[in-house]
Amino acid sequence: MVDFTAPYTLLIGGRPVETAAQLDVINPATGRVFAHCPIAGATELDDAVAAARRAFKAWKALSFAERAAYIARFAAALEAHQEPLARLLTQEQGKPVGQSKDEITRGATLSVGMTKIELRSEVILDNAERYVELRYLPLGVAGIITPWNAPVNLAIGPLTSALYTGNCAIIKPSPFTPLTTLRIGELMRDIFPAGVINVLAGGDELGAMLTAHPGIDKISFTGSVATGKKVMASCAGTLKRVTLELGGNDAAIVLEDVDVADVAKKLFFAATVNSGQVCMAVKRIYAHEKVYEALCAALIAEAKKARLGDGLDPTTTLGPIQNRRQFERVRELKADAARHGQLNEGEPVPSGDGFFVAPTIVTGLSESDRLVAEEQFGPVFPVLRFSDVNDAISRANQTRFGLAGSVWSKDLARAQAVAAQLEVGTAWVNQHRITMANVPFGGAKESGIGRTYSRLGLEAYLEPQVISVLKT
Ligand code: NAD
Repeated sequence: MVDFTAPYTLLIGGRPVETAAQLDVINPATGRVFAHCPIAGATELDDAVAAARRAFKAWKALSFAERAAYIARFAAALEAHQEPLARLLTQEQGKPVGQSKDEITRGATLSVGMTKIELRSEVILDNAERYVELRYLPLGVAGIITPWNAPVNLAIGPLTSALYTGNCAIIKPSPFTPLTTLRIGELMRDIFPAGVINVLAGGDELGAMLTAHPGIDKISFTGSVATGKKVMASCAGTLKRVTLELGGNDAAIVLEDVDVADVAKKLFFAATVNSGQVCMAVKRIYAHEKVYEALCAALIAEAKKARLGDGLDPTTTLGPIQNRRQFERVRELKADAARHGQLNEGEPVPSGDGFFVAPTIVTGLSESDRLVAEEQFGPVFPVLRFSDVNDAISRANQTRFGLAGSVWSKDLARAQAVAAQLEVGTAWVNQHRITMANVPFGGAKESGIGRTYSRLGLEAYLEPQVISVLKT
């Protein structure tokens, strides 16, 4: 069992490691520092890479079934520690504790789900003359860099992919939310062989060091588009393989035949869960003119029902924005929107120094306004009107983002045809923000490169190798 009162430590080569330098971690519900943890530098990174490379020899020699058994034990340990992990996640990240519990349970379910995917070598040719086989080799050491909005879930997808396919890994969580990942490292220490998994907390410069390190073969990066471009440029120096899961500006297109009350509930949740700090949150709504007024009214009613507060309070439905920088950004986008459109705000924010933003539905904007064109990553979102669905599709596609989108209608065939025209990695119908272990997820355009989950996601941690034998 993990002691949640013990000081935080890094995990390197199966051992807890302390450092003199410490990172302050702020609770966004209060705006105050509530914990400290070690910060890794170049020495700790070199040690972690050396430990991972040593562990790689034995780990890659295991069968998929053997590695799946380790992952199953890890998933069970996550579930067994769900309550304290969820409370810690809420303290450092801000989301309501029920959403933190979901994140941990979902991490466990996804990790086990991914180990049900079969990866086999394939005989391409076997005749009198030649035998040609395509097999897959693990890459070596994967560096996993995660953001602050869902630190557990966004570590688990790449981590399971790396470990199940025979790679070792080093995880670097965001400096805003390092604690839950460090505690999960302690859980893993008792389960995995030393060095298979290493956890290093640190700032942005540590992320940059991982991307440049010659002992790391693959980077899985989840974060903003701007940082993703820097990561790719840095990885080019050693031609590391990269998976980039970046930002989004998901549009939801609402056709004229929907049940407005039902769709408003679902859209409000998809736009404001985790206070809108979700890569695949609904970030813009396009509503047909026949339902536009009713939908706006129903969304505003949902906003008024929201309960803002500390995520540890069980009555809270909307927590704070995770950090001051993002808080200022959302407020700036909101102020800009107020100059061009109308703000319809939900309940007022709690008093104190927490980073709270009231859920806000904004009408009267167009594609040239920042709240529509940029990724807001907060509970403030625009509703735009359309009369011709082709116009809605082209406006939804008028962006460099391409993560996901959704179409809402009772006519499934029509909605599916509209969804197929969205330039995104995932186009949902009558749902939004759904991922599954055997379904690839990732971005088109500048929302990313590669996919997480599914066979495609696993193959991104493997190098194809051809064995070609001339028989005659
Ligand atoms: P960010 O890009 O600022 O930071 C992400 C991580 O990268 C952090 O761990 C940070 O320390 C590290 N980092 C910063 N500079 C680096 C560099 N030069 N080299 C290597 N690593 C570096 O992102 P954020 O603000 O933490 O997260 C929010 C963004 O993440 C949003 O745009 C959101 O849409 C995106 N996101 C995408 C997905 C997805 O699956 N597509 C999921 C969640 C979040």
